[in-house]
Amino acid sequence: MKRILLGIILCLIFTGVSYTQENKKINVAVTILPQVEFVKRVGGDRVRVTVMVPPGASPHTYEPKPSQLREISKAKMYAKVGSGIEFELAWMDKIASINKKMLIVDCSKGIKLIDNDPHIWLSPRNVKIMVENIYQGLIKIDPVNKEYYRKNREKYLKKLDKLDEEITQVLSGMKNRKIMVYHPAWGYFCREYNLKQIPIEREGKKPTPQGIASLIKEAEAKSGKIIFASPQFSTKSAEVIAREIGGKVVLIDPLAENYLENMRKVAKVFAR
Ligand SMILES: [Zn+2]
Repeated sequence: MKRILLGIILCLIFTGVSYTQENKKINVAVTILPQVEFVKRVGGDRVRVTVMVPPGASPHTYEPKPSQLREISKAKMYAKVGSGIEFELAWMDKIASINKKMLIVDCSKGIKLIDNDPHIWLSPRNVKIMVENIYQGLIKIDPVNKEYYRKNREKYLKKLDKLDEEITQVLSGMKNRKIMVYHPAWGYFCREYNLKQIPIEREGKKPTPQGIASLIKEAEAKSGKIIFASPQFSTKSAEVIAREIGGKVVLIDPLAENYLENMRKVAKVFAR
């Protein structure tokens, strides 16, 4: 009987401990899914991350749900992309006003921006800077655990260096360095690895029939038989062009949460 009682007491203590540890976690909100990986890799088990633009949604058009905005009131830090993505242009003021004590970290600080191209996270070299900004934010909020965050940051930066090397390697043999993409998300990637993207969508708009006709000519002359599209956007006009040139549409995801793995895959797909 005594043993059972002791067991129950120990159980209560342990649930209590894990409950308070869970409660002590730092709530961090981010805009897009790749940032979830960045914050988790640096913050480890000391953070809980909430994403504003959910899987399948586009940060160019998404509007947050009221329940998501309520989550913001619990966050200690918001890591914004900071490169002028529409979701943040439309909602950042509102988000900041919901939780005035929250630290807002600009992940783009220190990155050389390309005009009208917010997709900074698609270059691993930019991500190293984003990760540094996230780290600076975390140690401001939780300076006691600086050493823990520093170690995590080092580990992830090494992985990003390795990814960068691998992508350079995979793309080194690519003869035709023009890629046709539906949504022009790959500007930073192309700048880094000496490629050129030919976008089908221009300024967020689907192409006109004349536009499609000239894209077909361009594809035939320059970019080869594969058209790259993303799961967040309609693939219809990409398919029309692919059919005309006897090519095919291949999906690549600019917003996957498993960043390292996804980027490795994307580089291989481009190189094929
Ligand atoms: Zn985009």
